[in-house]
Amino acid sequence: MTQILTLGERTTIPILTAEEVASTAAAAIAEAQGRFEALESEPIESLSATEILERWDDATIVLEDAFGPIALLNSVHPEASVRDAADRALVDESVFITGLFQNEKLFERISRITPASSAQKQLKKDLIESFEDSGVALPAERRQRFREISERLTELGQEFAKNIRENKTVLRFTPEECRGLPQAYLDRVPKDGEGNIVVGFDYPDYVPFMMNSASEEARKRYYIANTNRGTPRNIEILDEIVALRKEIADLYEVPSFAHYVTKRRMVENPETVARFLDEVKSAVTNAELRDLDQLREIAEKPKIERWDMMYYRERLRERRYAIDQEALRAYFPTIETLHWMLDITERLYGIRFEEASVPTWHQDVLYLDVKDAGGGDLIGGIYLDLYPRPDKYKHAAAWPVRGVSRRVARKPISALVTNFNRDGLTHNEVETLLHEFGHVLHGVLSQTEYNQHSGTSVERDFVEAPSQMYEEWGNRMESLSLLRDHCASCPTVDASLVSRIRAAKKFGIGIDYGRQHLYAAYDMALSSPQPGECLAVWKSMEATTPMGYIEGTSFPGTFEHIASGYAAGYYGYMWAKVIALDLVAAFGKDLMDPKTGRRFRDEILSRGSEEPARDLVERFLGRPVSSEAFFQEIRGE
Ligand SMILES: [Zn+2]
Repeated sequence: MTQILTLGERTTIPILTAEEVASTAAAAIAEAQGRFEALESEPIESLSATEILERWDDATIVLEDAFGPIALLNSVHPEASVRDAADRALVDESVFITGLFQNEKLFERISRITPASSAQKQLKKDLIESFEDSGVALPAERRQRFREISERLTELGQEFAKNIRENKTVLRFTPEECRGLPQAYLDRVPKDGEGNIVVGFDYPDYVPFMMNSASEEARKRYYIANTNRGTPRNIEILDEIVALRKEIADLYEVPSFAHYVTKRRMVENPETVARFLDEVKSAVTNAELRDLDQLREIAEKPKIERWDMMYYRERLRERRYAIDQEALRAYFPTIETLHWMLDITERLYGIRFEEASVPTWHQDVLYLDVKDAGGGDLIGGIYLDLYPRPDKYKHAAAWPVRGVSRRVARKPISALVTNFNRDGLTHNEVETLLHEFGHVLHGVLSQTEYNQHSGTSVERDFVEAPSQMYEEWGNRMESLSLLRDHCASCPTVDASLVSRIRAAKKFGIGIDYGRQHLYAAYDMALSSPQPGECLAVWKSMEATTPMGYIEGTSFPGTFEHIASGYAAGYYGYMWAKVIALDLVAAFGKDLMDPKTGRRFRDEILSRGSEEPARDLVERFLGRPVSSEAFFQEIRGE
């Protein structure tokens, strides 16, 4: 049973109706159930390790064929009925998975196999950890409670995401409050009968307004509304999530949820995270104060407020570096910049992208075949959903819709979802595009034996390394100079502009990392032995920062990362950034060197999670990871 459509050699995402979501999910679970039952009842001596692991991987492929697409459609499909059906289907999937990993007979069977290769050894280890982390060894009562908690956490995570995605709040601003906004922005956004602009929380609405509206009152109103876009309900949800996670830690008799999570990560324990965050904090404190001093100077105000920050950062960049993010859109028209990114990726990794027409969930969505530049063989497929629309996922992210398996010639599919302006990108958005495409490449260029080791299935505190690494390709002349080939009429990105962009980026790094540190520390606090109430903890932590806590703001209700899989894991962005900057260094002075690109593809991207990330990285670098480049960057050196 597979709903995946195969057009010739190409595999595409089925665009399911609400009824099909339900029937596809039910059929996949029934089929997987049958396969696991067969595996369970087979006499134990009759199957080799290879046979058992292949059967296991085959059954999980059945699930992924259904739930990979359903998980994506859940966040991007224009129809509420499809998104809602996907919510229900994904709860059923999570219940099934928990039950699977609580099955003692299967646990016993996997525990007793003798792996015949290093990939098998890793897969056996991964599976045993999944059994252990799903409560297989807990007493019956606790195991039952774990099942209930898992199901509830899935539901709560969905409700949290939905409240943000489907928030219909709009704000109105008078022409006076719009002073300073670019004409292109004013022409684009809707107006009401009285000449006010009507805007919501999509990035193309919010970001240019905060960077450019000269009205402090208007910026303040928009800032506070934006921190409340998760709705008061999300605070209640997060409190329930945090309490349930603490209960999981209690079931396992470990001190905190962070202990439960981090043992499967590169860091191995919460103490390592705490030490790392302390190091970041001491490096960043002075840099942050220095940045704020400079903003005060530009603003000629005694105190920089949170709603001032983007505004005065832009003024500082304009005055000091002649960088105007809005004006940069002319240098980076959206589609031409996409083509440029595909071009540099082709050169670097020896692949070719070919646009093709396939069924999609919305007319804006593009599809690309990924082919090997040498033989022209089809490697996989990529979907690009670039622009905002109502009810769509609001951030930028990549979905690994379908994994890869050399064993069964399974071809990967990834989807990139962003909320860009159609006309052009700011430099920050160029970096966002590269970042998410870094995840997409990790998905489609992996070539693992087992589907479960595909691309982004790596440790959560490594997964942001290839993506953050790729951001650098938006900051160097050897890659940016190729933009010319894709837009002859655009103003030229020359060496002077690139060096000004780089210099301007340095300013504000203290503020940015100060914020990243706060997010990571807050996440660890909510995953600690005594988590407390999420809004109260946030207020007290944000209050200790130089800009303080703003009454009426409610950031935790928007912090989707920690309501979902990044819990006790937000630190992973900075942890992986250490690795990312070290990986960039391996390219030396030429980011476009195809030899290093090819080696990166073979030694990191293609290997997925077949080996621990640390081993892959150390082999690629030829030495242990060094944090020097990272600490230099955050000190602003
Ligand atoms: Zn990312």
